[in-house]
Amino acid sequence: MQNSKPARCPVYKKCGGCQLDTAYPDQLGYKQNKVERLLRRFGKVAPIIGMDNPCHYRNKVQAAFYTNRSGRIISGVYQSGTHHVVGIDSCMIEDETADKIIVGVRRLLPSFRLTTYNEDTGKGFLRHVLVKRGFATNEVMLVLVTGTPVFPSRNNFVKAVVKQFPMITTVVQNVNPYRTNLVLGDKQTVLYGKGTIEDVLCGCRFRISPKSFYQINPVQTEVLYNKAMEFADLKGSETVLDAYCGIGTIGIVAAKRGAGSVVGVELNGEAVRDAVMNAKANGLKNIRFYKGDAGAFMEELADAGEKCDVVFMDPPRAGSSEQFLRSLIKMSPDTVVYISCNPETLARDLRFLTKNSAYRVKNIQPVDMFPHTEHIESVVLLSRKMPDDKIEVDLDLDELDLTSAESKATYQEIKDYVLKEYGFKVSTLYISQVKRKCGIIERENYNHSRKENPHIPQCPKDKEDAIRAALEHFGMI
Ligand code: SAH
Repeated sequence: MQNSKPARCPVYKKCGGCQLDTAYPDQLGYKQNKVERLLRRFGKVAPIIGMDNPCHYRNKVQAAFYTNRSGRIISGVYQSGTHHVVGIDSCMIEDETADKIIVGVRRLLPSFRLTTYNEDTGKGFLRHVLVKRGFATNEVMLVLVTGTPVFPSRNNFVKAVVKQFPMITTVVQNVNPYRTNLVLGDKQTVLYGKGTIEDVLCGCRFRISPKSFYQINPVQTEVLYNKAMEFADLKGSETVLDAYCGIGTIGIVAAKRGAGSVVGVELNGEAVRDAVMNAKANGLKNIRFYKGDAGAFMEELADAGEKCDVVFMDPPRAGSSEQFLRSLIKMSPDTVVYISCNPETLARDLRFLTKNSAYRVKNIQPVDMFPHTEHIESVVLLSRKMPDDKIEVDLDLDELDLTSAESKATYQEIKDYVLKEYGFKVSTLYISQVKRKCGIIERENYNHSRKENPHIPQCPKDKEDAIRAALEHFGMI
């Protein structure tokens, strides 16, 4: 693990892609603390699994193209809220080969008289370049996103790029003529190779197309999925549900590891098509995928009296829905493996499940999928208390002590949170008044209400709401 503080990235502020620029062990400490603050009331949080080398992990890299006033072509990222591109030739978290290809494409443009697209006028040719690389297979896809379908000197340009970067296995032109923040448009033409690449994860092959979702850190994805499989503890005959399945990765790995049968459900139709293809490519016959809302799908299964043994659920940042969770409880699988990219919504959903059912959290494992960013991934094992099981009593004495809520976040942390999220300052007095309203024991000197002491100012409503949000954020209410 790298201990030294990395040299600060010169475009750290303007780019915004990374939010943490402290030494890697400190980043892991920050993430561990945050998960513990939000989730420790459900059970013990295992130490976060970080990366041995937390650099250049991103297997998907995209760059915007732009010509500045002096006619120089720049490639990089849009400075947030502007049409101004911040030039980036190499990035600490992006795949190095991908970065080199992007610079190579930029250098080739003038000799082919290819222009860059202008976001303000809607004129010009090259808009973005997207590179995806299969870490395990070394296959590389280059996607040229253009503002118009007409591609002057197309064949010669592609030949020149591939000659310079022989690791490129496919080149695709994607046409995006729209005034939009989305990188990719609807139409695409394969200019070289198959139009897709493959990667291998946990011994399974996955086909990746320009648009398909694929985890961006394959090294840590294996770690995460292996943990999820360890928690599921499949014996060989289980019925498994992979909810929010994307291109089917988790369900496919489970099927390959011996699940009896697997059903996947996903909202995005293209991802479902990829999932079906991926299952075939891995020679699996015991897996089916459905397109639809995971909550509605679960409700249908639950109402029909269907049962399953293991549910993997991997919802987006917003977390799961109450419909999904209620139906999950009704279906009562023995094991639920919840994979989450947002510990806040994870805490909310775990609270719902543990409050409304016999499910209890058995393991909580954070995995650092996105070093240098503030994103935190966790995998949680829940299982049902069996009626004739011995009840294990595992009491954390702190949990019984109301005052321990006090120690969950300091006054300073609450003030910092409110300032960051709401843009205003709140006083210790106001925080203590809100804490008191929420039933958290308070120090005597802040305990007087308006009636008791008319001289003490009372927290206004907007500040109270912000403080309540902070208390919720820190898992104190
Ligand atoms: N399990 C996959 C993908 C997780 S990302 C993996 O490991 O790669 C979350 C997925 O949930 C996305 O593919 C998104 O399209 C899908 N999704 C979002 N809302 C959904 C809903 N209401 N019902 C089903 N799927 C949904």
